[in-house]
Amino acid sequence: MSQLDPDAWRAQARRWLATVLEPARAPESSQDADLAVFHNLPEEEERLLLERCRAYQRARFDAGYQALTLPADKGGAGLTAAHAVAFAQEESAFDVPPSTELISVTVRLVGMAVSLFGTAEQLRDYARPLLRTDLLACQLFSEPGAGSDLAALRTRARKEGGGDWAIDGQKVWTSGAQFADYGLLLARTDPDVVKQAGITAFLVPMDAPGVEVRPIRQMSGGASFNEVFLSGVRIPDRLRIGRPGHGWEVATTTLAFERTASGSGNRRKGGTFSDVLALARSLGRTGDPLVRQRLADLYVRAALRAATVDRVARTSAAGGRPGPEASLTKLMASDLLSRTGQVAAELMGARISADTGEPGTFAWTQHLLGAPATGWPEAPIRSSAT
Ligand SMILES: Cc1cc2nc3c(=O)[nH]c(=O)nc-3n(C[C@H](O)[C@H](O)[C@H](O)COP(=O)(O)OP(=O)(O)OC[C@H]3O[C@@H](n4cnc5c(N)ncnc54)[C@H](O)[C@@H]3O)c2cc1C
Repeated sequence: MSQLDPDAWRAQARRWLATVLEPARAPESSQDADLAVFHNLPEEEERLLLERCRAYQRARFDAGYQALTLPADKGGAGLTAAHAVAFAQEESAFDVPPSTELISVTVRLVGMAVSLFGTAEQLRDYARPLLRTDLLACQLFSEPGAGSDLAALRTRARKEGGGDWAIDGQKVWTSGAQFADYGLLLARTDPDVVKQAGITAFLVPMDAPGVEVRPIRQMSGGASFNEVFLSGVRIPDRLRIGRPGHGWEVATTTLAFERTASGSGNRRKGGTFSDVLALARSLGRTGDPLVRQRLADLYVRAALRAATVDRVARTSAAGGRPGPEASLTKLMASDLLSRTGQVAAELMGARISADTGEPGTFAWTQHLLGAPATGWPEAPIRSSAT
């Protein structure tokens, strides 16, 4: 596939997408694909959504369009960042099943990390099934005392007789842990060296004896995150990812994927400018000068974010390494989600607290309550309208 010139490759990708997906619907007509920032689905519906996503990811893997920039000997397509950008652009013209956090973590973070650091057996047994979403994996990094300062983590892994590892500790904010088959875990294996040097990465089976997943209930009603307790969990050495003491390298590589993944187009999360515009139209408010001012403010911020995302993508496509602007796109996204929810709340008034999700509208209540969890520290909204 890499023999094709970029334009021919793009056309081929577009033709393939048309064989597996429907064209994208206009936002105003979309009624069921709208997920709140953290959607609240009953477990059965969440599983159905996961299966829809998995069917697409499997088709994508089988056709050679998954992990485009990963070297071919690591299970990827061995193409350039420009191809990845082109694919994301083409994909955005189609109705891609809304990706869940767990699918994203599995394919774009854990699957990539295991592909890069895994042994030949791990590539066959784990990386390939992860990239194809036959296996699902969560990210067991954050701890109650190790968030921003991740290297301070205290979960311990000790080598036992026979080469197994025994793991004890606690993780927190683990997205999708209740549906994951494995977790990419960081644990301290040597407490006597500089903190970054004493960490090792492992793939932990989430059904291993001693692993307990407890959901964290959010104010929006859902439970997207979990606490994960590990008590005397024993795993074989073949589930170690990378060399002992090299877990920090696995972690920083994984987190770099997370940062640059923001350029990848159409993974919709929460209400967009189009949704709030559709809401204003449906309420007959687009003639109100104050509403127009608020909408214009949102539009400009959304355009600025899109331009920054594009800048990150162009840097990657040209073979460069995106700088702080990659992190900025995440900050801009969470700011935009908060502001979008606030404008929706102003438009709807008291109805926001009784939104029934009637056709043509969006689950704005969940959006408003879920947006702060994406990381914007406070809601600096009302006063900045002018
Ligand atoms: C949507 C979402 C999904 C997530 N999913 C996962 C997951 O699947 N797996 C996982 O492991 N984690 C996950 N996390 C957790 C995320 O990575 C943590 O939020 C992160 O580790 C930060 O930790 P913390 O919340 O403890 O914040 P803290 O580290 O306590 O920071 C709180 C605030 O203090 C500031 N601060 C911290 N240290 C300093 C300092 N030295 N100087 C100045 N300011 C400082 C921070 O900037 C921040 O504003 C997720 C988070 C979100 C929002």
